[in-house]
Amino acid sequence: MSTPLDYPIGSRPEAGSTIEVKPGVLWVRMPIPIPGLDTINLWLLADGEGWTLVDTGLKHKPIKEHWETIFARHLGGKPVTRIVATHMHPDHIGQAGWLTERFGCRLWITQREWLFARMLSLDSLPEPPETAVAFYRRLGFDEAALAEFRSWGYGNFARGVTPIPTSFRRIRDGEEIAIGGRRWRVIVGEGHSPEHACLHSPELGLLISGDQVLPKISPHIGVYPSEPEMNPLGDYLASLPRLKVVPDETLVLPSHGDPFLGLHRRLDALSHHHDARLEALAAACAEPRVLVDVLPVLFKRELNARSRFMAAHEALAHVNLLIARGQVERVTGADGVLRFRATSRSEAAA
Ligand SMILES: [Zn+2]
Repeated sequence: MSTPLDYPIGSRPEAGSTIEVKPGVLWVRMPIPIPGLDTINLWLLADGEGWTLVDTGLKHKPIKEHWETIFARHLGGKPVTRIVATHMHPDHIGQAGWLTERFGCRLWITQREWLFARMLSLDSLPEPPETAVAFYRRLGFDEAALAEFRSWGYGNFARGVTPIPTSFRRIRDGEEIAIGGRRWRVIVGEGHSPEHACLHSPELGLLISGDQVLPKISPHIGVYPSEPEMNPLGDYLASLPRLKVVPDETLVLPSHGDPFLGLHRRLDALSHHHDARLEALAAACAEPRVLVDVLPVLFKRELNARSRFMAAHEALAHVNLLIARGQVERVTGADGVLRFRATSRSEAAA
């Protein structure tokens, strides 16, 4: 066990209110009306005659009302003049369409996040495509589970977002953005989403870490039907050390949970967490295993129908990294379902 993290800010903002974490940096907290997800943190940065807003909240009427309260009471009468999105997940980008319209301002985001957001918001169907059903069937989901999956519709992304702006300002890894006369450096991470931007201000001693680094949970990293062989966990673990350029004494502002100190030990703990899960999974694959049968290796809690699909995405991310490392191989059974089994290389690694 490593030393626990420090949480130096003793309180949390109420919905429709703010807390100043450093001069000119306001913490906003919005609900996420999805069971188990709780709240998201958003950040307002004083920016001359206006405010730069980092992330926006899900499309949800009460969140819009909380924003109006904040605009009326907490911003000194100044408008939002720029929106930065760390990444394209609906709890982050959901209100960007509405806010860019409301204030006549622009969305700043990395290219791949914008492309995915636009694409997913347009990719909405009454039923999932057969390739998606076949993907889950190969992972071992039975016909009853697949029928349920079909009933959920496809392209639910669009429901969680106001229209994704049709024009954007691209931000890139290593770029420095001046906000309120201070430099914020973009540090891109991968794995949780395609091109996730963290923002580091050395002058303020702050890192806006988005979902790339969270204090209490490890960010969701999943493989989806659109790219069954992708290796996002490999991308995630390879990109995490990039954040080590940020000094350890930096106050980290994550999207979920409280601002914390202890960035470097949190980065190490996240790597170790995945190492342990990879090891357990490789061991479980000593015998050829169907993916749905290894879910209990990674998830001790009871899984409902929907969370079983989410869990499969995460488990496959771990399996695909083991495959990339040559420790596990993928074979198709006579039933068309994939089996994953450890290779001799895995025994050598153990
Ligand atoms: Zn996210």
